[in-house]
Amino acid sequence: MKIVALIKQVPDTYSERKLSDSDQTLDREGTEAVIDEINERAVEAALLLKEAHDDSEVVVVSMGPDRATDAIRKALSMGADSAVHLSDEALHGSCAVQTAKALSKAIGTVDGWNLIVAGEQASDGQIGAVPAMIADVLGVPSLTHVVELEVSGSTVTAKRETDDGVTRLSAELPAVVSIGEKANEPRYPSFKGIMAAKKKPVSTLDLAGAGIDPSEVGLAHALTSVTSAAPKPPKQAGEKVTDEGDGGAKIAEYLVGQKLI
Ligand SMILES: Cc1cc2nc3c(=O)[nH]c(=O)nc-3n(C[C@H](O)[C@H](O)[C@H](O)COP(=O)(O)OP(=O)(O)OC[C@H]3O[C@@H](n4cnc5c(N)ncnc54)[C@H](O)[C@@H]3O)c2cc1C
Repeated sequence: MKIVALIKQVPDTYSERKLSDSDQTLDREGTEAVIDEINERAVEAALLLKEAHDDSEVVVVSMGPDRATDAIRKALSMGADSAVHLSDEALHGSCAVQTAKALSKAIGTVDGWNLIVAGEQASDGQIGAVPAMIADVLGVPSLTHVVELEVSGSTVTAKRETDDGVTRLSAELPAVVSIGEKANEPRYPSFKGIMAAKKKPVSTLDLAGAGIDPSEVGLAHALTSVTSAAPKPPKQAGEKVTDEGDGGAKIAEYLVGQKLI
């Protein structure tokens, strides 16, 4: 089985995330960049499948600037076998639809893939749609919010967990699976893994190498764009009701005033 793990390098949650003043895209230069935590979970899910199935292989695919190689190396040091890095200045500012189309092209360079494992939502863009869009572009099933994953023969089965409950899903391969936050804890790379990762093959593709038309990507052709951004206003202090024997009536009065009862 050949499993593609989609990983994105994102600004560290501990560093300040801001948009550049010039084009309102994420200012990646001024922040610490790391592999997205949910993508470590996706790589872990792929590695568990690889360990459960002989002759399996995990190929990491990432679209991002040159420095995304650090995130790719982290996935390789966890145990992935090889990587495809789609990197081209022209991709800057691509929207979710363009990202999904471009990643689909990069995935197309991986011969004989059966399963794509992604995170359900990136912690920077938070669009939460790229895996389903890739499934649509490639014409394969999409299994979302997955917390457990198994493959038997040509069938993938998954436990899907949302706020509403737990669902069991199955689909025929090839398919796309997006991993939820509660999925398997990612392993730490071992020293041996870190050393081995340095020698694993990483194929770097530009637009031409991936067969992407420049008019299909980038800020100038994006279907959506961020027009402005501002920090959330701080929460207002709540109203305090002091109970002087009439607390219940005061609360009822307040709720009526808010048209809540
Ligand atoms: C502050 C901000 C606002 C933005 N607003 C918008 C907007 O309103 N509309 C819009 O279309 N775009 C927007 N973008 C762009 C967006 O971040 C991405 O470039 C792209 O649209 C994918 O969205 P996402 O990463 O949130 O994807 P999600 O769908 O949240 O990502 C889910 C999973 O898909 C995979 N994946 C996503 N991107 C990559 C990648 N580059 N390489 C490998 N795997 C990947 C990962 O496995 C990831 O866990 C915004 C970006 C920022 C930083």
